[in-house]
Amino acid sequence: MAVPASIVIVGAGQAGAVAARTLRERGYAGVITLVGDEAHLPYERPPLSKEALGAGVDAGVGRLHPAQYYADHDIRVVSGAVASALDRAQREVVLADGRRLPYDACLLATGGRARRLPLLPERLPNVHVLRTLDDAMALGAALAPGVRLAVVGGGFLGLEAAWTASQRGAAVTVIEGAPALLGRVLPPVLSEWLLLRARAAGLDVRLEVSVCGAVPGATAAGTTLALSDGNQIEADQVLVAIGLVPNTELASSAGLPLCAATAGVLVDADCRTADPHVWAAGDCASQCREPDAQAVRTESWQNANTHGAIAAASLLQAERPVTPYPWFWTDQLGCNIQILGAAQPGLQYVMRGTAQPADDAPRLLAVGLREGVPVHGVAINAGGDLRVLRPLFEQAAAIDAHAFADPACALKPFVKSCLQRSA
Ligand SMILES: Cc1cc2nc3c(=O)[nH]c(=O)nc-3n(C[C@H](O)[C@H](O)[C@H](O)COP(=O)(O)OP(=O)(O)OC[C@H]3O[C@@H](n4cnc5c(N)ncnc54)[C@H](O)[C@@H]3O)c2cc1C
Repeated sequence: MAVPASIVIVGAGQAGAVAARTLRERGYAGVITLVGDEAHLPYERPPLSKEALGAGVDAGVGRLHPAQYYADHDIRVVSGAVASALDRAQREVVLADGRRLPYDACLLATGGRARRLPLLPERLPNVHVLRTLDDAMALGAALAPGVRLAVVGGGFLGLEAAWTASQRGAAVTVIEGAPALLGRVLPPVLSEWLLLRARAAGLDVRLEVSVCGAVPGATAAGTTLALSDGNQIEADQVLVAIGLVPNTELASSAGLPLCAATAGVLVDADCRTADPHVWAAGDCASQCREPDAQAVRTESWQNANTHGAIAAASLLQAERPVTPYPWFWTDQLGCNIQILGAAQPGLQYVMRGTAQPADDAPRLLAVGLREGVPVHGVAINAGGDLRVLRPLFEQAAAIDAHAFADPACALKPFVKSCLQRSA
């Protein structure tokens, strides 16, 4: 296929906006239309559960570019417009209001929507989810000193919001079904540490319980949640933070294959779908980096940026940008946590530093080793150290665990000598 004369990007979120920007940065002179169902210009979501929620949400929070940017770069932004169908035969994106947008190439960057709790009716004013700026505005407006907030789901997002709400004086209960906090992404020792820190900060964290019943409006304006352990929680406000459902309906109703395991639109290493005129990127895309590899769907800021840039390069038939080593950050309980790589069964974890859970500015670094090679790193308020270690991950260089654990061992020379030894 020649470089497309017109590109319609469905989803004016992070991946979509990064793709549009990258196309122009790479000199693309064709027509770019960015269609989004939200009323807002493209924005990044991470602040929504962090500082933005704490300070009272500003409508410009996380905004990627001002309106003038899109005008200056001739990117047509169609906001508040739902794409209801992808007509692959005609090569048109059909909007819910009947408009049809012809394309030579289409990029699906539709992200995902917050998973709901079927027990709780969707439209109750005191039941929240947290995916969009409007969601954050509604939750932020409901937080005040003394408000009883129940957070269903103790994952990254639920815990971030729980902490932010508690900083605003809310009395927060976190309900988590798993036996540990962030147990799938942290080594057990840090998971336990985080739980102690949460409790020391006054969060009421309930593990291994689920919500099995709800009586909306049973209290003055609130909800009574019945828990699987027999307890009940009275809440003025409820935040349901139980994950994301990828928005794949456009793709699936147009006959594009989805990944059975990870529920995203199947794409290759260049973010191409099975249709040579359609790409997909970001939270909605399940990517096979190698032809026979298992598809991976990643919900992260880094992945949205990377996919946006990869899709743009592929649309222009340019060389694929390098995919960076997986990195994620989150702000938890007053700590910046950065993660390199992924937790896997059977890793040997080495800690560097010690910190009490209630310390004001704790600093910890844990590295998960497979046969001496770091594959999973977690830094608590030590992101700079993790950056220094990054080449060891990228180049699969084995380390001396004993030396690493010694706080007197200077990291930069340590990394240099490990790299030299493994070369
Ligand atoms: C509160 C919150 C905090 C987060 N914090 C972090 C963090 O600390 N670190 C981190 O790495 N990641 C974080 N993330 C994850 C990160 O923000 C996402 O992975 C990223 O936003 C994904 O970008 P995307 O473009 O794929 O999807 P989105 O940003 O969701 O954009 C998709 C857009 O497409 C629109 N859309 C969908 N369907 C249609 C349609 N049919 N027609 C028109 N428009 C449509 C959606 O409404 C949305 O605006 C956080 C996410 C949230 C919600």
